[in-house]
Amino acid sequence: MDNVFEGMKKTPFWWEAAPRSEEDPPELPGEVDVLVVGGGFSGLCAARVLAQAGKSVLLCEASFTGYGASTRNGGMLGPSFHKLGVKGLTARYGVERMHAILNQSIGFVDFVRELTGAEHIDCDFHRSGRFRCASRPAHYDEMARQLEIQQETTGIDAEMIPAARVREEIGSDRFHGGVRYDIDGGLHPGKYHDGLLRVAREAGALYAPQTEVTDLRRNANGFGVSTTRGNVDAGQVAVCTNGYTGDITGWFRRRLLPIRSAMIATEPLAPEIMQRLMPTRRMYGDSRRVMAYYRPSPDGQRILFGGRATGPGDQPEKNARDLRHMMLDVFPELDRARITHSWSGLVAYTFDHVPHLGEHDGLFYAMGYCGSGVARASFFGTKLGYKMLGNEEEGRTAFDDLHFDTRPFYTGNPWFMPALVRWHRMLDQLGF
Ligand SMILES: Cc1cc2nc3c(=O)[nH]c(=O)nc-3n(C[C@H](O)[C@H](O)[C@H](O)COP(=O)(O)OP(=O)(O)OC[C@H]3O[C@@H](n4cnc5c(N)ncnc54)[C@H](O)[C@@H]3O)c2cc1C
Repeated sequence: MDNVFEGMKKTPFWWEAAPRSEEDPPELPGEVDVLVVGGGFSGLCAARVLAQAGKSVLLCEASFTGYGASTRNGGMLGPSFHKLGVKGLTARYGVERMHAILNQSIGFVDFVRELTGAEHIDCDFHRSGRFRCASRPAHYDEMARQLEIQQETTGIDAEMIPAARVREEIGSDRFHGGVRYDIDGGLHPGKYHDGLLRVAREAGALYAPQTEVTDLRRNANGFGVSTTRGNVDAGQVAVCTNGYTGDITGWFRRRLLPIRSAMIATEPLAPEIMQRLMPTRRMYGDSRRVMAYYRPSPDGQRILFGGRATGPGDQPEKNARDLRHMMLDVFPELDRARITHSWSGLVAYTFDHVPHLGEHDGLFYAMGYCGSGVARASFFGTKLGYKMLGNEEEGRTAFDDLHFDTRPFYTGNPWFMPALVRWHRMLDQLGF
């Protein structure tokens, strides 16, 4: 391994300031009003609403506290609707639903700001804005077209930044302009998870790490739930497993494409380098098929750089080499910067590129955030909690009742994804 990787940790940078707890799991109750499967943002946000309403809530997490994507992500917040775009949403769902989805999505960052404010969660929330860089001149033109329609539809605060002004936003000559979204922001996902956990616990929810749900059976009172640490009867069950959805909920698994996303962190960089490379300290992303995303650490000292992992399973050394290569393409002057952390986690894509929530066969669910789940999971988890309480007004969303697609013969194992990502990456490199 090259020198820049010496001593590199294979755990998330976020776990330095928000270490994962080693606590023993609590004894399980025999019955609860609600059992939540999955201890990330979705599960915690649902648990918070339900417990605050007086329900007895057990949250089962298969591994240690905050094992999943929720403490491994980039902490970037935004409406995240550019993947399908106005045209794609309209073609699928019609003009009215497109308007409703986009306008609700615009509010996701404010939703997190209000939630963290109301619950006193100290997680370095910062509305920094996001700069989406155009990797090719044609991408800039397409971004400008998209923005015009987005502004007509939602009035979103954003500005096209032409190539001549790119250096106001980012210290790189790699891009052909871009678009600056003012409403986006960032937070520290480890601290955010810790904060949500504290709030859910204060409301009375029981969080049980190392408690994998292994079977769910309908019974007269709801569900009989088997876990690796005992059986529990639950009146209602919420499935909040996103990229880690397994066979016990096969209907959901067949509707999700689990995809590995990876990140690296640099060592602390000199203040003048950070000032040059990220003068506005925004969140950043590019416009390639296999996009990269990057940001400064909340203290503004490091660069955190992420993208799609191409190999099977977790391969921190390979991911670090690939991501560093991509990072040097954007910031060549970082060629001597040490890489201190490399980590990855699973996100869940859906066939229609839209996240889903609701109820299927008596099971409530929120999932499929398509790689943008910090704000979405917070919002969806909360709304799911209200739905489970039967509070139609608070639980209503613009995403209700969307058909949750699968594909013939798809069983939940996207074995073709690594090859597809490599193919897309090659097209990106060739400029197609
Ligand atoms: C590297 C990376 C970077 C990302 N960057 C961003 C970003 O910058 N911005 C953004 O918006 N999103 C980002 N995301 C996506 C975001 O992190 C996720 O969409 C979000 O955290 C999903 O939260 P969740 O609670 O639904 O799922 P998770 O946090 O993944 O939690 C699901 C949990 O379910 C548990 N589980 C599964 N099966 C069972 C079972 N049978 N019994 C008990 N527990 C079970 C798993 O162990 C897991 O902990 C990123 C993700 C990754 C991996």
